[in-house]
Amino acid sequence: MIFLIALYVFSESITATHSLASNRPIEEKAETTSKNQKLKNVKILATGGTIAGSASSKTDTTGYQAGVLGIETLINAVPELKQVANVCGEQIANIRSQNMDNKILLKLSKRINELLKTKAVDGFVVTHGTDTLEETAYFLNLVIKSSKPVVIVGSMRPASALSADGPLNLYNAVKIAASEEAKNKGVLISLNGRIGSARYITKTNTTTTDTFQSEEQGYLGAIAGNKIYFYNEPTRKHTTESVFDITKLDELPQVDIIYGYQNDNRYFYDAAVKAGAKGIIIAGVGNGSISDHALEGAKAAAKKGVIIIRSSHVGNGIVTREKTDDENNFVTADSLNPQKARILAMLALTKTNDPKEIQRFFNVY
Ligand code: ASP
Repeated sequence: MIFLIALYVFSESITATHSLASNRPIEEKAETTSKNQKLKNVKILATGGTIAGSASSKTDTTGYQAGVLGIETLINAVPELKQVANVCGEQIANIRSQNMDNKILLKLSKRINELLKTKAVDGFVVTHGTDTLEETAYFLNLVIKSSKPVVIVGSMRPASALSADGPLNLYNAVKIAASEEAKNKGVLISLNGRIGSARYITKTNTTTTDTFQSEEQGYLGAIAGNKIYFYNEPTRKHTTESVFDITKLDELPQVDIIYGYQNDNRYFYDAAVKAGAKGIIIAGVGNGSISDHALEGAKAAAKKGVIIIRSSHVGNGIVTREKTDDENNFVTADSLNPQKARILAMLALTKTNDPKEIQRFFNVY
């Protein structure tokens, strides 16, 4: 008998190790561990980042390796997750988010839409590096066809750090993903006790834990004292109302971002066109302004059918539509920052090349 129990424990540990090593879904394991029927089922899709990062010293909060710990390690580090949901993890990638690309973005989005069809999942959490977290979040906000909660989470300190913020951020994200209140609010970003909309929130500080801010439109809510508080709703179209469908896509149109600065020139525009860009986002100065020299490049690109979208590198505010936009068939990015304007532009270009129609997308999403 003792021998049989030992054999069983041994084979279980082999299965777990194998799942992790081969990057296969570890749902089989999570599903065999007692499911509490009273709790919601939350799927955690892991992509890497600092939340999966580790350093050799507890005080090292910058020179660590991101994207090294597997999802099972992250889940096991927070046993309290079991009190708020039946959690189950799956490793989509394990990268630093500066290496997130369209291929992984499509893989992640398709996987969520696929899991939604099974009806076995009530809410999703995506763990992600913070550097490009808002880009992935906004992409999911536009392509996930469900009103079920989807919460993107990361951390600013690696798991090994003194006062690591990952475990509590993960716990809060799972709690939000398992909640009724988070339904139909579009994709949410939660770090540091805040709940923000993927459309509005942005990373504002290189190293601090309060880096994700929503200065202009505000947060949607907060999580405090183990309770979720929602105060606002996103007003822009998302998820179930979105027309963008990635089901049959294996790649996305190339859209580049060109920064505006004093003494800039047209050659980045010429280079982007030559490299095959279908759209160019201008991270312009002020109200999306562009120098006369750069404007020559933008106009030449627009004449070749490349969609030119004026955004701003200021960090806040709306880029207003001006006479020059009508004259040159330019699009304005509304209040989307350049990196999010790029996300919407890629999806818009899967539907149309008409600047007027693309402007309409920027007015409503
Ligand atoms: N470079 C890391 C990443 O984005 C930083 C982080 O996760 O905070 O993956």
